[in-house]
Amino acid sequence: MNLGDQHKRILDAVDAGFDGQLATTRDFVAVPSTRGAEGPCQDMIGDLLRARDYEVDDWHIDLDDLRDLRGYGPIAHDFSKARSVVGTYRPSTISGKSLILQGHCDVVPAGPLELWETPPFSPVVRNGRMYGRGALDMKSGTIGALYALDAIKAAGFRPTARIHVQSVIEEESTGVGALSTLQRGYRADACFIPEPTGGKMVRAQVGVIWFRLKVRGQPVHVAHAGSGSNAIMAAYDLIGALQELETEWNARAAGDRHFKTLAHPINFNPGIIKGGDWASSVPAWCDVDCRIAILPGWSVADGQKEILARVAQAARDHRFLSNNPPEVEWSGFLSEGYELTASAEAEAAFGKAFAAVYGGAVQDLVFTALTDTRFYGLNYNIPSLCFGASGEALHGFNEYVDLASLQQATKATALFIAEWCGLEQA
Ligand code: ZN
Repeated sequence: MNLGDQHKRILDAVDAGFDGQLATTRDFVAVPSTRGAEGPCQDMIGDLLRARDYEVDDWHIDLDDLRDLRGYGPIAHDFSKARSVVGTYRPSTISGKSLILQGHCDVVPAGPLELWETPPFSPVVRNGRMYGRGALDMKSGTIGALYALDAIKAAGFRPTARIHVQSVIEEESTGVGALSTLQRGYRADACFIPEPTGGKMVRAQVGVIWFRLKVRGQPVHVAHAGSGSNAIMAAYDLIGALQELETEWNARAAGDRHFKTLAHPINFNPGIIKGGDWASSVPAWCDVDCRIAILPGWSVADGQKEILARVAQAARDHRFLSNNPPEVEWSGFLSEGYELTASAEAEAAFGKAFAAVYGGAVQDLVFTALTDTRFYGLNYNIPSLCFGASGEALHGFNEYVDLASLQQATKATALFIAEWCGLEQA
């Protein structure tokens, strides 16, 4: 059989399986797998893998195994139910290159429900889109990878290399799910992560630092507010100082060969603010959870030092904070940026798959968020490709994945597996 026939049979099988793929995607999106509640999603993935005869490894993540590894981000919430799930396909003939296909099943909170047109965890298919929290980021991609493998089988082929299908958690907050699979020993000649990249290949991505400002105040009755110190207002001062740091880091980013093409690659975000106990009491406390980006090649430790120095400097200029300095806690991501390099073979294989589905050459994406690819590339020199479907509103309201783009991305994934792992007649 020539390559064209092989491709055609696989692409036809993706089309034939697409209704089933959508039904599974809808079931997967319907599980509200926010941080700490990913268990049912991991159960579902485990069942899907077992039903397909993959060898399933489903384990509890022990943070003590991970703390000293590159890219670890601290976790303070209850982690006793945290699991990773890996399904392994073992070939009868080995002639191609091995592959990790990875998706994350954690999703970010839905936010106020009244701002959604349809409930976030009751996925709806309408006008060629599937709406729901995680429909785009990235449950459709994870299920797509599984159905790409199904299509190869349905077309009458089987891969000739080992494949690990991995479902991880914590992608949205620390990355320790992906880290746990590497600590467990899973390796391959390449990793492929079907995040929703809009049909582009992630060339460079930022790193991210999460931190919590813990600001104290002097509580008094608001009738004598002048004699106290308002922790919420003091937090505003610190946020202003950190916005200046963001401006400086963006100026520094003008020297980066990928990120200089973007107007504002470094984004600082105060994402959660809590404080005070009573409307008529000057607040004695305010906690602000913040996120800021760094670029590939920047050190996390240097970034942390600059954040601490900027907060300390702002506190010195403040009447109350100068004697009661705020604390900074590292509250999640401590992640480096990542640039896809030393990946010519994997990119060539993907390039062929892309050309067969989309025509032409895949475009690069310079990404102002991060993905789990960094652990494979930085920690183990495993070329780690990130490519997937289109849609809108990831982390927003009315998140959706465009279904035509999902079908195409599934086809490109299937042909990449064929190209990279090699196939034999089943
Ligand atoms: Zn994602």
